[in-house]
Amino acid sequence: MSMLKNLFIGLSKNELMNSAAKKYGLKLGAQSVVAGTNIEEAIKSIKELNSQGISCTIDNLGEFVYKEEEALEAKEQILEVIEAIHTNELDAHISLKPSQLGLDIDFSFCLSNLQEIVSKAYKYDIFINIDMEDHARLQPSFDLLDELSKDYDNVGTVIQAYFYQSEENIEKYKNYRLRIVKGAYKEPEEVAYQDKKDIDTNFIKLIEYHLLNGKFTSIATHDHNIINHVKEFVRKHNIPNDKFEFQMLYGFRKDLQLQLAREGYHFCTYVPFGSDWYGYFMRRLAERPQNINLVTKQVFNKKTNTVLGIAAGAFLLGRLSKRRNK
Ligand SMILES: Cc1cc2nc3c(=O)[nH]c(=O)nc-3n(C[C@H](O)[C@H](O)[C@H](O)COP(=O)(O)OP(=O)(O)OC[C@H]3O[C@@H](n4cnc5c(N)ncnc54)[C@H](O)[C@@H]3O)c2cc1C
Repeated sequence: MSMLKNLFIGLSKNELMNSAAKKYGLKLGAQSVVAGTNIEEAIKSIKELNSQGISCTIDNLGEFVYKEEEALEAKEQILEVIEAIHTNELDAHISLKPSQLGLDIDFSFCLSNLQEIVSKAYKYDIFINIDMEDHARLQPSFDLLDELSKDYDNVGTVIQAYFYQSEENIEKYKNYRLRIVKGAYKEPEEVAYQDKKDIDTNFIKLIEYHLLNGKFTSIATHDHNIINHVKEFVRKHNIPNDKFEFQMLYGFRKDLQLQLAREGYHFCTYVPFGSDWYGYFMRRLAERPQNINLVTKQVFNKKTNTVLGIAAGAFLLGRLSKRRNK
C-alpha cells in the first residue's frame, strides 16, 4: 500500500480531525463528492439524478459512534430520509453502516435500531443496504442481516472482493440483493488479498457468480475495465438488464454514469450527505490519490487553508501513532 494511501486511511480514522470537520462544514473539496450537509440539499441532487434516469442509494453519513444518543440520533435521521423518499416519490433506497447505529456499543441495541428502520422502509417498499465496514465488523454485520431477514425481505448487503472468505459468503447469501465491491479499508494479509491483480480477479469471479446464481447484483466500481467485462459477460449469458445495475459514488466519473444510464443499463448513484463527511472523504482520497486534485482545485479557487488542514492532520496523526507505538 502506498504511503499516500496509508496516510489517508490513517487520517480517515482520526477522531480529532473528524470532530473538527463536523464543526466546520464541507471543506477540503468534499463538496464535490458529498451532496450537502442536510437532507434538503441531498434531495435536490437526487431529483436531478432521477431526472436523468439514474436511481440513488442515500447514505446519511456517520461513523465513530460510541454513544447511544448519537446512534439514536442517526436512526431518527435515517427514518426522516425514508419519509422523504416516500413523500418526494424519489427513485432511491438507503445505505447505512452498522457502526453508525451502535454496533460498537451493543449488538442488540444496533439490531433494534435497524429493525425500526427496516420495518418503516418495508411499509414503503424501500430497500435497505447494510454497507460493509472493516473486518472486525464483518461477521457481526452478517449476523445483523440474518436476524433482520427473519422478518423482512427488503434488506441486503455488500460483498468485499478483497476478503478471502467472500467466495463462501456470496454462496451463502446468493438469495439476497448484493452489492459487490473491491473493498475500501486497510486489511491485513491474514484475511485479505493485498495485490490489486488478485482483488480484481476475485471481484470479477464474485460478480459473475452472483449474476449467474444470485438475486439482484449491484456492480459498484469506477473501473471501466470491469464495467466493460460485465457488459460483455451479461450479453454472452443473456442476463436481462433487470437482474443487475451499475453503481458509482456521487461526483465520480459523472460522464460515465450518464453514459451507462443512456445505454439502457440500470444505474444507481451512491449519494452521501451529512455533517459527518470526513472519514468517507478521506477513504475516497486513499482509494485514488489523484482525487487530491479535488482538494487543490478548491485551494486555488477559494484560497482556503485546505492544504494546511491536511498537513495538520498528517502531523497530528503522526504524533498520535508515535505515541501509540511508544
Ligand atoms: C457505490 C459504491 C458503494 C461502495 N460501498 C462499499 C462498502 O460498503 N464497503 C467497502 O468496503 N467499500 C465500498 N465501496 C468502495 C470500494 O470497495 C472501492 O474501494 C472503490 O470503489 C474503489 O475501487 P474501484 O472498483 O472503483 O476502482 P479502483 O480500483 O479504485 O480503480 C481502478 C481503475 O479505474 C479507473 N478509475 C477509478 N476511479 C476513477 C475516477 N474517479 N476517474 C477516472 N478513472 C477512474 C482507473 O483507471 C483505475 O486505475 C463502494 C464503492 C462504490 C462505487
